[in-house]
Amino acid sequence: MQNAQPKASHFINGEYVEDTNGRPIPVIYPATGEVIATVHSATPAIIEQALAAAESAQAGWAAMTGTERGRILRRAADIMRERNHDLSVLETLDTGKPYQETSVADATSGADALEYFGGLAGSLTGEHIPLAGGDFVYTRREALGVCVGIGAWNYPTQIACWKAAPALACGNSSIFKPSETTPLCALQVAEILVEAGLPAGVFNVVQGLGDVGATLVTDARVAKVSLTGSVPTGKKVYAAAAAEMKHVTMELGGKSPLIIFDDADVEAAVSGAILGNFYSSGQVCSNGTRVFVHKGIKAAFLKRLSERLARAVIGDPMDPDTSFGPMVSEAQLRVVEGYIAKGRDEGATLSYGGARLDRDGFFLEPTVFSDVTDDMTIAREEIFGPVMSVLDFDSEAEVMSRANATQFGLAAGVFTSDLTRAHRVVAGFEAGTCFINTYNDAPVEAPFGGSKASGVGRENSKAAIEHYSELKTVYVRLSQLEAPF
Ligand code: NAD
Repeated sequence: MQNAQPKASHFINGEYVEDTNGRPIPVIYPATGEVIATVHSATPAIIEQALAAAESAQAGWAAMTGTERGRILRRAADIMRERNHDLSVLETLDTGKPYQETSVADATSGADALEYFGGLAGSLTGEHIPLAGGDFVYTRREALGVCVGIGAWNYPTQIACWKAAPALACGNSSIFKPSETTPLCALQVAEILVEAGLPAGVFNVVQGLGDVGATLVTDARVAKVSLTGSVPTGKKVYAAAAAEMKHVTMELGGKSPLIIFDDADVEAAVSGAILGNFYSSGQVCSNGTRVFVHKGIKAAFLKRLSERLARAVIGDPMDPDTSFGPMVSEAQLRVVEGYIAKGRDEGATLSYGGARLDRDGFFLEPTVFSDVTDDMTIAREEIFGPVMSVLDFDSEAEVMSRANATQFGLAAGVFTSDLTRAHRVVAGFEAGTCFINTYNDAPVEAPFGGSKASGVGRENSKAAIEHYSELKTVYVRLSQLEAPF
């Protein structure tokens, strides 16, 4: 049996901290169903320690030059890359995602974020604005203070780094609460940051369920909250933050459209649909789960899709040949099974998969429904599992209005060989992140985030700096100051 027990549950003020009075949270390896570690939910005393540590460390960290802060972040990126194998194994244990994925997508993308924002840190400045009479304004780009990050369970290392890197680059301190389902990886990120020279208290990790997150969000010492999670949780967290006028970034769920026109390269479109539905067993927020296929190529698309899915290697996630792993938990698997039953009941055609595998762990076949209509539950709600809905369409105008007819607006994609149409279609998408002839690429250099109910703000890229700092305006008068009396 695997053992992934961390040194302690929390990481506060530069060291591991335990308080066994907190409710135990078992960590289950999704490929076997075995308990591989137990952490304890943060007690009020632990939450207080984390807040006090983050608050007292912040001013000193912000007083360092951006270049000094950036050097530490870049050193942490180097350490993460050196330890990629071990971190990837831990990510696989935490999430069940195949090592084939984790070794190229998790610690590596976390390292990219630390390196990118480490590189930007030294060049974060305000501006000088000349005015009449020699007067001028200058702006200071200042840190917000203590930033709370709250994570989902699908990318525990990446989410911790996507939130920590811009926050720390701007001079904030941070408290990160991982998902209770995947609590292990963020502790490694904290350890590595301290090893790279991060002062104690600047980045802290506390464990717990939603109640711990909610306590952090409402504390007066917290200036900003960044959540990656579902829309219902986002609405609660956004409302709690708004009550105290706190800054927010909300990275929430989606039901994104992927439109495949009849002039598309079908092989590439099938690749896009596979990447946009079955990577990480479909547990990716930006997945293009509503695949609109032009009627003329529907049969060819479905045939090729089934042939390609039959090549998926499903099994032990630690085997480098495995390309499709289990769902993260029994609970999530049951949610997805419920949607598969609804798809059948509501009259969609099950074209591929649909069944749980007869083995330990939480394995579900990659599943494709065709003949899906817009009103079906599987076409409206986020499933967050390996279930693709294929819908037919006739014309561009029709498919655009159907693609946008959703509360979500996280991502959207189009496959076509018509360049003009491709740009016209993405201009018409109501979504924050769009793809032409590809799907789900998310380099750190590019803004990532959703519109409509899928989110507020952007992660990654220079845009994230706006969400982790604020401008102070300083008016300097050199001309004579006069008053009316
Ligand atoms: P979730 O909303 O159940 O939980 C997310 C996090 O919020 C967890 O850490 C949870 O403990 C915490 N939480 C729950 N209630 C809270 C409260 N009242 N106050 C503060 N924190 C609270 O989501 P999940 O099931 O862990 O993850 C799946 C969801 O995340 C999907 O909807 C998916 O689309 C979304 N997601 C979005 C992105 C993105 O970048 N847009 C990325 C990954 C996942």
